[in-house]
Amino acid sequence: MASFRCRRDPCGFICLILTYFSVFYADYVVIQYVLIPAYSGSVWCTLHGSIFNIILLLLLACHSKAVFSDPGMVPLPETAIDFSDLRSQSNRMNDRGCEGWTVCSRCETYRPPRAHHCRVCQRCIRRMDHHCPWINNCVGELNQKYFIQFLFYTGMASLYSMALVVSAWVWRIRSEREGDGEKEGDESPSKHLIVAHYIILLVESILFGVFVLVIFYDQLVSIITDETPIEQMKNRLMKDRPSSGQLTHTTHTRKPKIALLREVFGRGSVLCWLFPLHSSPPSAGGISYSAVPDYDV
Ligand SMILES: [Zn+2]
Ligand SMILES: [Zn+2]
Repeated sequence: MASFRCRRDPCGFICLILTYFSVFYADYVVIQYVLIPAYSGSVWCTLHGSIFNIILLLLLACHSKAVFSDPGMVPLPETAIDFSDLRSQSNRMNDRGCEGWTVCSRCETYRPPRAHHCRVCQRCIRRMDHHCPWINNCVGELNQKYFIQFLFYTGMASLYSMALVVSAWVWRIRSEREGDGEKEGDESPSKHLIVAHYIILLVESILFGVFVLVIFYDQLVSIITDETPIEQMKNRLMKDRPSSGQLTHTTHTRKPKIALLREVFGRGSVLCWLFPLHSSPPSAGGISYSAVPDYDV
């Protein structure tokens, strides 16, 4: 299996801690200040509590898989390779006869088509999408599925907590108007504290919800157009400079959208796409480099 190297990126560590803190804070507020006061003694308390915690568990499971999985690092050569005959990356055919393979001058190795060097990971990553500080890892060929699932469950948790907070707030205002306010004795948390928690959780949910929705959309577009953000940028630059366009313009075989989605999410049932399960690589006998046509849907 792939070797996991801890990426010593301060920004990545801060984002990881912030992610865990946000998840546990949301759970604390939902249980302590939303479900217990508003739904205490009702079956809805258990039901909402269970569903919300299952979503958070799946979110954390997908996040862990995205953090600790190998995104598709190109192995470093065991012995030094002599690159003296290679002038630049325009050499698209190396001695292995693999079209599209290029040379990374930083890793000093050959890399398959669509692999790019990540400055944070200091390695080349196959079908690199971007380096994400929220998972302190690259999003690449082997962990993109877990990253998208993490976005999906974060979006769901944000929507769910927004709905729960709004309904609890409405219930609180109504019960105060109807004169149930005297139920709150000295041991109850103060009204201002509760409202402060509601506002913080609402702001957190809206910020994270909108953020993951935008990235989720971008991820799906990049899958179904078969073009990573790095390739989109390169192709755009090549269009602006047509003279050098024929050298590095990336073109891929037209594949059906469902085949492209299956390359990322696996060949199992669509239901399996929702869970952070290990799926077999796109082609039997090892990892495919996306240059290999793969139409078996
Ligand atoms: Zn590299
Ligand atoms: Zn990286």
